[in-house]
Amino acid sequence: MVSHDRILIKNAYLMTQDERLGDLVGDVLVTGGTIQAVGRELQDDDARVIDGSGGAVLPGFIDTHRHNWQGALRNLGPAWTYEEYRRRVQIGLGQYFEPEDVYIGNLAADMMSIDSGVTTVRDESHISNSPEHTDAAIAAHWESGVRAVFDHGWPSTEAEEWQFGSVRTHPDDIRRVRGEVLADDGARVTLNAMLRGPELSTLEVADHDIRLARDLGLRISMHVGLGERGARQQAIRRLAEAGLLGCDMTFIHCCTSSDEELGMLAGHGATASVASALEVFMPGLGQPATNRLLAAGVRPSLSVDTETIVSGDMFGVMRAALAYQQLIVAGAGGAMDRADGLSTFDAADLIAFATVEGARACGIDDRAGSLTPGKEADLIMIRLDDVNLLPATDAAASIVAGGHAGNVDLVVVAGRVLKEGGVLRGGATVLQEAASSRDRLFRAAGFPLPSSGAGLRYRG
Ligand SMILES: [Zn+2]
Repeated sequence: MVSHDRILIKNAYLMTQDERLGDLVGDVLVTGGTIQAVGRELQDDDARVIDGSGGAVLPGFIDTHRHNWQGALRNLGPAWTYEEYRRRVQIGLGQYFEPEDVYIGNLAADMMSIDSGVTTVRDESHISNSPEHTDAAIAAHWESGVRAVFDHGWPSTEAEEWQFGSVRTHPDDIRRVRGEVLADDGARVTLNAMLRGPELSTLEVADHDIRLARDLGLRISMHVGLGERGARQQAIRRLAEAGLLGCDMTFIHCCTSSDEELGMLAGHGATASVASALEVFMPGLGQPATNRLLAAGVRPSLSVDTETIVSGDMFGVMRAALAYQQLIVAGAGGAMDRADGLSTFDAADLIAFATVEGARACGIDDRAGSLTPGKEADLIMIRLDDVNLLPATDAAASIVAGGHAGNVDLVVVAGRVLKEGGVLRGGATVLQEAASSRDRLFRAAGFPLPSSGAGLRYRG
């Protein structure tokens, strides 16, 4: 008898991201939601066979920082500065979000993620305007089927009061979420704390918030090294000096964190998330710290950040990291980068940053990030025989240089098939509502309604 969660992928090029297995041409057997076996000429009479010839199978991409609530506001301002983004989205629109808008935005972001081969998204949720907003964000992750690390953040109401020297402590509702909503750290949707840290709040508040997260047994993410303020505030150094820096922390951006601070980050076993596409697009943040992190001994993870500015797939994020490295090599990097003695990375490294390093940054490397038997079956197949990737002389280089969501043929999360034959499953009902949510928010904020995209409905 053939059952749907028993899958045998045959004759694919396996980019396992497992050092012991390496890359090989072979098969992957998925049973009961986990990777049962990886090898050559596997047999299983009960499994549904998927022909993998012409495809590369790899662990799904892991996006370690995305503000999912903005999913239905995608592609608004690719040329915005950081200030314009803050004014229009965080301050302008965030305060008008209803729980339903958070649900639609999160689901839109999750479906985009899945379609482009992202199987885990770390949702940096600074839209905790009420407990109902938080619950709506989490409900969307259960609905979409993606693996989500939900990072509980602060509200977007009174946004200014929550940032830049804020004296408000982290919303207490995180205790309810931990106790009643996301108590199981082994589930498909798990809880982290998105904290502001000493770059956005006082050190006393940062100290309080970090202790709160650790009391609740939660990992921590923190935006640091944003623009001139980041260089001035030196959040990582101050955390280290206060005895608060730890291996349970992921630092997002680090664009203007000093080399010495990145050394402290490495010394404490913390992890980093580079939002390379966003950072090269948005003036005011600083430049991607990928090479400086490598020099400090940190292999970073990668992230999308906000879809209001950049595309929600990891292909563009990988390409942007490489494009910026090549600017440094050409002597055209920013003030913090030097071409001599540069610690460089290549396409294979980028695939690792976008998979196994992402799992490490999210604290889920025991169950995701590589095609290791016993891990949960989060995997994708990219068609190397598509017109834009043929003849795929080097699989990693082909995926990084030329890949896009249309090449993602198969997406499996926890053994459940979410995209197959290039067709995304599910999500259509709520995606119908994305344009209505956008219209409602624009009206509330007094923004003019767009002439293009008015009344658009999801076609899938
Ligand atoms: Zn961010």
